Amino acid sequence: MDQEHCRRLDAADPLAGWRDAFELPPGVIYLDGNSLGPLSKSARRGLDLALEQQWGQGLILGWTESGWLEAPQRVGDRIGSLIGAAPGQVVVSDNTTVNLYKLAAAALALRPDRCTVLIQADDFPTDRFVAAGLAERSRGRVQVRHFKPDDIAGSLDATTALVILSQVDYRTGRLHEMRRLTRTIHEAGALALWDLSHSAGAVPVELDTCDVDLAAGCTYKFLNGGPGSPAYCYVARRLQTQVRSPIWSWLGHAEPFVFGPSYEPGPGPKGFITGTPGILGLATLEGALEAWRGVDLALLRQKSLDLAETLIALVEARCPGAGLELLTPREPDLRGSQVSWRHPQAQQLIAELIRRGVIGDFRPPDICRFGLTPLYLGFEDVWHAVDRLRSVLASFAADVSTTTTAVPATP
Ligand SMILES: *Cc1c(COP(=O)(O)O)cnc(C)c1O
Repeated sequence: MDQEHCRRLDAADPLAGWRDAFELPPGVIYLDGNSLGPLSKSARRGLDLALEQQWGQGLILGWTESGWLEAPQRVGDRIGSLIGAAPGQVVVSDNTTVNLYKLAAAALALRPDRCTVLIQADDFPTDRFVAAGLAERSRGRVQVRHFKPDDIAGSLDATTALVILSQVDYRTGRLHEMRRLTRTIHEAGALALWDLSHSAGAVPVELDTCDVDLAAGCTYKFLNGGPGSPAYCYVARRLQTQVRSPIWSWLGHAEPFVFGPSYEPGPGPKGFITGTPGILGLATLEGALEAWRGVDLALLRQKSLDLAETLIALVEARCPGAGLELLTPREPDLRGSQVSWRHPQAQQLIAELIRRGVIGDFRPPDICRFGLTPLYLGFEDVWHAVDRLRSVLASFAADVSTTTTAVPATP
């Protein structure tokens, strides 16, 4: 595997043309699209349109004439097409945390005779905190227990109301088997709430055919919706008449403009819309999703796996003995769209890479994460990234020999 080989892979890449859809700063190799996706030309157009024409010229008429009122459902259906959800089950609203809270509270109300929520001890903090906060508010009725997805059957019992789990682990990049785990959860009589923050737009997600109950996720990572872009929630059609959001809002109402005396949730997932949505954020997101039009998700997955294979192979060939310990599973079926390594100087390593134009990120205590985003990343980019990684690691080794032998490093 050399630079020429990477160039040939780029020349044969059917997704290579998508890079033009993005406004990436020149000279930067961006390996952090799993944390904040880049600006796309269509996202800029979406925001410009809402700002200049719809709001600037249309004023309040935007709510009706520019389709602002239906935007949470319209954009939700669009996201649904990327996560295996038929129309009428996804709405865009709030951030992921609030959506997890609404969905988890609704799920607990559906299982009043059960009292435990299962979550991984090392899942993303907000997911764990939402569960812990709900347990505290329940004054002892609900308890949180930890489980390991590899031994989920051993953790489920007749008290389990709900299992919250991230499809892709944000630190290791491990992909969990949605279909099998959801079936096991259902066999125990519990509900499954999946967090798709690190999987939507990165790995195939089949919510409907996996029989998932509830799901939430953010849109500013692989979906490129922009910093703090609104999140979404999925409520399976078969549950829609049973589940209720704990936040009743006028816009989630079946008939908001009747301004009536009592609450009646709207159809489908509409009851999970809270108050007035942030239209500028929604418009940017809707524009960003335009860049996904025509993307073959199977090709996307294949390229993501190929990029990861290339990254791992190049690091192992070119940076041997440099103290990197691969944290991401080698088995492609168990991998999301990032590769992580442990390194004793992980934080400094990432800082040095950023100085050299390669943006990855550090997660405590010692993890370097590199997101792989097939729409705007090529194989030669990966080659350059590893080349710079190699020079950073070489400079660390030179520093160590300096301190141990007290001989000045040669340039
Ligand atoms: C990024 C991420 C979130 C983000 O939550 P916000 O409320 O949007 O800040 C939640 N869960 C997981 C697993 C994530 O990776």
